[in-house]
Amino acid sequence: MKYFKITPSRTAARYEIIAEVFQKVTENKQPFEQKNQRGRFARYGICPSCLNPIQLIGLYSESGRRPYGRHTGKNIDGLPEWNEDKRQQWLLEIAEKLMPPLEID
Ligand SMILES: [Zn+2]
Repeated sequence: MKYFKITPSRTAARYEIIAEVFQKVTENKQPFEQKNQRGRFARYGICPSCLNPIQLIGLYSESGRRPYGRHTGKNIDGLPEWNEDKRQQWLLEIAEKLMPPLEID
């Protein structure tokens, strides 16, 4: 995904996943920036759709690739608990939007 939130609410603002924006809105503070188990800094946000934690990938990489967000699939200290049900619920809503209800004659 291309956007993240810092507040777990459907109506909260969403921000583009780029380093300048991340720094501005999180000030690189916990829980959005924290060391992972391997002792390296990782950056996190909240999925704008299902409000689960996401990891922000490539925020400071110099590969020239666009940074993006990826569901963590697990709990991250200080962020909303990972909730697979919420994610599935969101996928269901999307599917329903894309597929018109079946007409029954
Ligand atoms: Zn999500």
